Amino acid sequence: MNCSYIHTDKTNGTKTPCQHPVYGNETLCVFHSTETRTKTADFDKALGVLLNQSVASPTPLDLNFKGFVFSKADFRNFVFRGIADFRSAIFTDDVSFRSAKFLQQADFHKTEFRGRTEFFAVIFASNLRFLGANFRGSAIFNGCKFRGSTAFHGCKFTGFASWQGSKFDTPVVFQSNEFVADADFRQATFFNGVDFFQTLFRRRADFEGTRFHGEVQFFETHIAFLKKLNCPRANMNGAVLHTAQIWENERLIRYSFRNAFLISMNLAGKELEDCDFTGAVFKAVLTVGWKPDCKTRLNTKYIYTDYQSGEVESADGGKHRVYKPVLSSRVPAEGNFGEGEHANFTFADYLLDPIPLNIPLDVPPPLRSAVTNYLQLFTDFLKVTQGIPVELRTRAEGSKLRVEFLVQSEQDLAAIRKSFAEYQKNTGHNFEELKLNISFSKDVAAWEQELLLKRMENQFKYLREELTLIRSYLPNSTNDRLIFARVDEATHSPEVLLKQVAISAPEPYIYVSYAWGEDDTPEGQHREEIVNLLCETVKASGREIGRDKTHMRAGDSINRFAQEMSKSKRIIAVISQKSLRSENCMVLELFKAFRHCNYERVDFQEQIIALVMDDAKDILRNALTIGELAKFWISHHKARRNMLAEIDSERTKSPNEWAVLDAMGEMCPRLPDMVGAIKDIVMKRGFEEIRDDGFKEVLSLLPVPEKSI
Ligand SMILES: [Zn+2]
Repeated sequence: MNCSYIHTDKTNGTKTPCQHPVYGNETLCVFHSTETRTKTADFDKALGVLLNQSVASPTPLDLNFKGFVFSKADFRNFVFRGIADFRSAIFTDDVSFRSAKFLQQADFHKTEFRGRTEFFAVIFASNLRFLGANFRGSAIFNGCKFRGSTAFHGCKFTGFASWQGSKFDTPVVFQSNEFVADADFRQATFFNGVDFFQTLFRRRADFEGTRFHGEVQFFETHIAFLKKLNCPRANMNGAVLHTAQIWENERLIRYSFRNAFLISMNLAGKELEDCDFTGAVFKAVLTVGWKPDCKTRLNTKYIYTDYQSGEVESADGGKHRVYKPVLSSRVPAEGNFGEGEHANFTFADYLLDPIPLNIPLDVPPPLRSAVTNYLQLFTDFLKVTQGIPVELRTRAEGSKLRVEFLVQSEQDLAAIRKSFAEYQKNTGHNFEELKLNISFSKDVAAWEQELLLKRMENQFKYLREELTLIRSYLPNSTNDRLIFARVDEATHSPEVLLKQVAISAPEPYIYVSYAWGEDDTPEGQHREEIVNLLCETVKASGREIGRDKTHMRAGDSINRFAQEMSKSKRIIAVISQKSLRSENCMVLELFKAFRHCNYERVDFQEQIIALVMDDAKDILRNALTIGELAKFWISHHKARRNMLAEIDSERTKSPNEWAVLDAMGEMCPRLPDMVGAIKDIVMKRGFEEIRDDGFKEVLSLLPVPEKSI
């Protein structure tokens, strides 16, 4: 009895029944049986017979594997002399065709590959069809030669797919495929063009070193990530390039992006020659420093700046995503770039990123609208004084108002800065004074000048009225006290509202603690030099470092500096004989840091980087020597306390001194632990050696530099 399997050709409906006898108790033959767990040995034997017949035949035999259910399959080095028909076959496990040769047509229509598929270095001498094939594992076609007409159509690649170094002699169709994982076309050569129509690359598509001869079509292709696509004349009409980076290809020549969707794409710095973006959607496209040439500007008639997308069910029940431009986002709204009223306006001009001049103003929320109105007039002011077009944007930022003036060139920035100072200075002047103060540019008509002056005066009057109004309504409660004070101040001198908020430099997060002061001894000077060198090295590594001399402004107390230091991320402690006996180093800096760590040894050791000078080594030698140091501090504390008690027995007149002494008193009993913790983290190498090494060891212990914003 024969097998009941009947193959129906999807294209012409022809039915071909299987000619092999049934296998075991089944109605199917050994080839079509799905019992892969039990049939393997028999299957391999039967397949061997088929293949041997083909090899022995004097004329090429066609091989019919239609609907075969393979276990692990091995076709390595096999020469398919006749037609190889794998339609609807199922490879339930890995299959290798490594170095095989297909001398005639090979057909993999609806073939299912459940394991890894390897077509490494295969020669396809004739036509090849992968139609609707499903690759569940990786699909490797590296180093293949595709000599006949080749099509991968409607295939799904769930695993990594690669055609690295393969050569395609005739036009290749890569239509409507879906790549779930990365696709690799590195070093492949397409001698006669390739069409990626409606192919979906969900992850990276790598085209490094790929050579394209003839036309490359990416029509309606969805590419999430594009790497090193290097080809002149790529047709990407209608392509969806999502988060696409064209890596290491700085010059795009004759790329057509008509009606393409460029979403979060990076074109920064790219040179574009004779490209065409007509009808393309530019959404979050980075264009900083790009150079679209004259032809590209002329080619591109209009663009869109927004799109909509949604899932649509297709005829076969699958879902796919469709993209449509938002019609109202068309630029220009009417007509084309470079024509008619847009004669001097191209898409590149439209997409030019304005340069913002950013000024934070101290404007309490109730005054926001009045100040914004007043600032709006500054754009008119600029036009008539400097002839510079500028756009104003304001944003609320807590109690501040962030003002951005958007201009087209860097040169304009300086002019605006200067003008803004002038505008600010003129705030509050009356009509007559303004007339004298403002230097109008020459081509501004008299009526325009008069109009602006009048407007300035009106706006100022309005601002003043607003201030008075708000002042009278604003309750003088504790909550509003700061706002009230600000409004009150502005009522008297409104120009303060246009003054830029002073922004202080960021506080350093690394401090150096060392014994400093006037010290003419050679040791003192040596120490000073070393600290200078250390600070320079840390700064050169891009980190801020706090040091008494540079970080104390006039009027700052040592106390405050020490306070900041104790809370910092790292303290580089340069321990010397002098520092171990210095009130600043020990009490205000190290002990405060120790206290800030809740006297936790591990936390403290994390915060401190200890470098020990030669003269301090003996003091840190062991518990006894550290005990001696503690005794020094006890007697020092006693002497200082007795003296201060005589001076200020009530402890009311010199609170700062008492605070230092109290801290010292707290430190004494904890000193063995504190210095002990430091002793255990001292860098093993000598100070000189650490320095000669360029403080590499110290730098390795510092947090990475915080990027300045
Ligand atoms: Zn059969």
